[in-house]
Amino acid sequence: MNDAPNSIFSSILSGDIPSHRIYEDDFVYAFLDINPLTRGHTLVIPKENAPTMDTLSEDSAASLGRVLPKICRAIMQVTGAINYNLIQNNGEAAGQTVNHLHIHIIPRYSDSEHSFVWANQPIDHLDAKNIAESISAAIK
Ligand code: 5GP
Repeated sequence: MNDAPNSIFSSILSGDIPSHRIYEDDFVYAFLDINPLTRGHTLVIPKENAPTMDTLSEDSAASLGRVLPKICRAIMQVTGAINYNLIQNNGEAAGQTVNHLHIHIIPRYSDSEHSFVWANQPIDHLDAKNIAESISAAIK
């Protein structure tokens, strides 16, 4: 278990702060975002108090992965959304504002206007070879 400081999502998990619950099991809780980008915007969180993906236990990660598809299916079925984004921010520089790991499920409708701007560049293959080999070797 992680001993990260409690966040507002700990208070949601304990029931001290109310939430619109969508799903719950022993390891996972899902609820509506209080400031939705679109109708049905959902947050899926582990009950484990892990701030970011790199701190999450494999058991909690497996539990999250197991339930995501069925939560996405239910959201699509009920909202009539045509597509959806899964977004997961890790750390302040990545836009994370609540220090408890959470996955956003953001339904997209035909009239959805929100855009995520990606200023991406073509890969540098020499650097790519080095970083791919280094990251691969660092995976434990
Ligand atoms: P982040 O920017 O950290 O990826 O996203 C945090 C999300 O948590 C935001 O979309 C924000 O609206 C949502 N949020 C923050 N506080 C609360 C709360 O008390 N209840 C609910 N349901 N959502 C919250």
